[in-house]
Amino acid sequence: MFNKMTLRDVDVAGKKVLVREDLNVPLKQGEVSDDTRIVAILPTINYLLDHGAGVILISHLGRPGGERNEDLSLRPVADYLAALIDAKVSFASDCIGTEAQKAALALESGQVLVLENTRFHPQEEDNDPEFSRELASLADLFVNDAFGTSHRAHASNVGVANYLTSVAGFLMEKELEYLGNALDNPERPFTAILGGAKVSGKIGVIQNLIGKVDKILIGGGMANTFFASQGIEMGDSLVEKEVLGLARELLEKAGKKLLLPVDLVIGDKFSNDAAKKTIKVGDVPDGWMAMDIGPDTLELFKETISTSKTIVWNGPMGVFEFPGFSKGTFDLARMISESEAMSIIGGGDSAAAVKQAGLDQEITHISTGGGASLQMLEGALLPGLEAIHDQ
Ligand code: AMP
Repeated sequence: MFNKMTLRDVDVAGKKVLVREDLNVPLKQGEVSDDTRIVAILPTINYLLDHGAGVILISHLGRPGGERNEDLSLRPVADYLAALIDAKVSFASDCIGTEAQKAALALESGQVLVLENTRFHPQEEDNDPEFSRELASLADLFVNDAFGTSHRAHASNVGVANYLTSVAGFLMEKELEYLGNALDNPERPFTAILGGAKVSGKIGVIQNLIGKVDKILIGGGMANTFFASQGIEMGDSLVEKEVLGLARELLEKAGKKLLLPVDLVIGDKFSNDAAKKTIKVGDVPDGWMAMDIGPDTLELFKETISTSKTIVWNGPMGVFEFPGFSKGTFDLARMISESEAMSIIGGGDSAAAVKQAGLDQEITHISTGGGASLQMLEGALLPGLEAIHDQ
């Protein structure tokens, strides 16, 4: 199924290998506050080091908008990585130019060089050919392991592939296999669970999944728009008026496959301190808003989840950042973790919820790429993946 070249198809001994990872990790006061994405790259990095390569690591971090911004430096990430691997790790304060060239030249087999945030240069997001060529000139081979960035066509993941042999790293391969297999060849029943704020960002996902899954469970703010499209009063809930027609069409197309909440936890303001009550759908008073799914919905969803063989989940069931409205999301995470299904969490908020609940070890695969996994669920091509050379 995987028709791209991977690390196993090339000899890396004695080579300088440019490795694009997604090291876009959260930082708090200059320190890495969640190391999931760093830990996830270790199989690729250790394989390269063990096989005699010199590793030149590149990534973006945050959105510096093409300008140098010390708060978004990759230096703390390089320091964090150094503590996790048994190799010398050095850092260059630019990803192109003299300093990067000198550091790459001095790099020996079995060592790692981390280059500064690629997005400090506007050419990165423009997928500029000259910038791509400069990055590529540092190495003999390119490994794209940045699944989380693969929905973007930028210089450091797509442009460089025009100048070097380009293969997939182990993280990229693993991500594509889990999501790809679930979508193309799932063990059934196959259930998708979608949540989050808006329908508009996930229309393509729903359209694509309707044809593939046995059930779609919908929660979170996006359910509001589906209710409103049927003329159900939603009070002050978040409703996307501009997609009501589309929501109605999706409901018709999905028919019995699509399950919406039957009860909701509502609040009288968008705050953790809001007054709270649980109501049946249709009973949201003026001035109140849907903030979470209710207990009857959790029971309803449990019936489907407990008999599923494959589950893909993307998006929280409510405003889970407010502890008072997080029960639906956390209980759902628990249900998924307790089910016997192969479970795949599509990154972003749902991955954060699973980790916060301490359930990450119980899940088959938690994607490191929210946007990229959504794009896969939409059935759209990933430019980062396309740029990797075919076998
Ligand atoms: P998304 O990025 O579309 O997956 O949306 C994630 C966001 O949806 C989270 O920040 C949640 O707080 C938010 N969300 C979930 N349910 C609701 C709701 N009922 N009303 C408003 N926001 C919600």
